[in-house]
Amino acid sequence: EQDLFTTFQTRALEAPDAPFLILPDAAVITYGAALARCGQMAGLFRSLGVKPGDRVAVQVEKSATALLTYLAAQAVGAVYLPLNTAYTAAEVRFFLGDARPALFIHRPQDEAAMAALCAEIGVPARLTLDADETGTLTEGLAAHGPALVPHPATGDELAAILYTSGTTGRSKGAMLSRANLASNAFTLKEYWRFSAQDVLLHALPIFHTHGLFVATNITIAAGSAIILCPKFDVAELIRLMPRASVLMGVPTFYTRLLGDAAFTRDLVAHMRLFVSGSAPLSAETHKEFSARTGHAILERYGMTETNMNTSNPYDGPRIPGSVGLPLPDVELRITDPETGAVLPQGQVGGIEVRGPNVFTGYWQMPEKTAEELRADGFFITGDMGVIDAAGYVSIVGRAKDLIICGGFNVYPAEVEALIDAIPGIAESAVIGVPHPDMGEGVVAVVQARDPALDEAAVLAALQGQLARFKQPRRVVFLPELPRNTMGKIQKKALRETYADLFA
Ligand code: ATP
Ligand code: MG
Repeated sequence: EQDLFTTFQTRALEAPDAPFLILPDAAVITYGAALARCGQMAGLFRSLGVKPGDRVAVQVEKSATALLTYLAAQAVGAVYLPLNTAYTAAEVRFFLGDARPALFIHRPQDEAAMAALCAEIGVPARLTLDADETGTLTEGLAAHGPALVPHPATGDELAAILYTSGTTGRSKGAMLSRANLASNAFTLKEYWRFSAQDVLLHALPIFHTHGLFVATNITIAAGSAIILCPKFDVAELIRLMPRASVLMGVPTFYTRLLGDAAFTRDLVAHMRLFVSGSAPLSAETHKEFSARTGHAILERYGMTETNMNTSNPYDGPRIPGSVGLPLPDVELRITDPETGAVLPQGQVGGIEVRGPNVFTGYWQMPEKTAEELRADGFFITGDMGVIDAAGYVSIVGRAKDLIICGGFNVYPAEVEALIDAIPGIAESAVIGVPHPDMGEGVVAVVQARDPALDEAAVLAALQGQLARFKQPRRVVFLPELPRNTMGKIQKKALRETYADLFA
């Protein structure tokens, strides 16, 4: 059984000069240097009383040292618990109270608020780390040597508690074992053909599964390198692209890159792979990207609780609007949301997955765990989807975003795809809001590229393409759709905004 920290350590001992992290100024942190820094950090964590199984909570800006806190936590057998940097002190109080960490690493500017919180909750140790990597964490490293005896972890030990994005409700802490993370990383490394020569352009946040686990763990599994950008910036990405071979992004990365004339076919001719996930990539963006660059974006589907579940193939057709095929060690089935019965191929239902990637449960939420993890090991993802004759999975929306209009189901993704295809539309979100006759009325919230487009034009374009009950009753325009840090459209917020539209 493979373990990611062991793999990292082995790579560092065998090829200490191989690049691991490349910074935007071209400075390189080799595998050997990264392991030495991890050794010091592990020493610091242990000196503060961190023991195997203890939680290490982290809310810091993205940096090389920040990323290494993940590996150092693995080295000492701690459970890594990264927090979104956008969370306020009030939100952090909930997470610290819920997870009871032995150590909390936070930004220096939050010192007063976090010192008070930790005293209140009883978090015994704190360190600070700033965006420029200064702080008590870095200062504390000097007292510890690079030599490292890692905790001898087994696969069923917890590697992390990762909180979900909170798109549909309060974030839940997904408990991920070391074997969960390792199995998915090695599967994806093979599936996406990563080698030690790859250089991943990394502009995702590292408090979320995409940037933290998919990106970092595959890199470790392959022994390859990461160009670590502090944040997503179109001009920076274009500047650094010539040094990279792979980009992993959320769909907004791709729409923003396409919006820049400097993003050309020549610029990316050498690139091996563009991956998209975390939110639906519109078929329009997929096609526009192919036309501009000659590369077909590889879309995959995953979530905090499961790592990655499906992927479009490396060789073979990458279908716009589809999230591809179940990964080799993942079983995926479509079930009736009411009865749980497995539905025949071609029918829309709830997506359930089972495999070595699936988490062990929600932290301190046994009822929620029991609701979503079936006795036979299948996890009820909360997403609705359909499998085509070739085995490709398409997501039609989240169960919570399903619209029931006059007793008929309307799957938002179907309507959104047609709206997105209307010339002059940048993006759309289709939601249901209370309607006096229909129960829910379909509303399309759109962001237009063409200011001349109006409600009547959008409705006219949909005529004859959709059954009457699926057609939006209203189309409203916004300069920009509300999104969270992972580029996910906030439909819950939109439903609240337009709750009285039909009142
Ligand atoms: P919460 O569970 O707290 O409501 P969340 O589900 O957004 O938040 P994440 O685990 O970050 O939290 O996101 C996983 C979800 O993202 C999936 O369940 C799915 O709805 C969506 N998703 C991920 N990849 C894709 C994709 N390629 N296409 C469409 N949706 C995707
Ligand atoms: Mg979710």
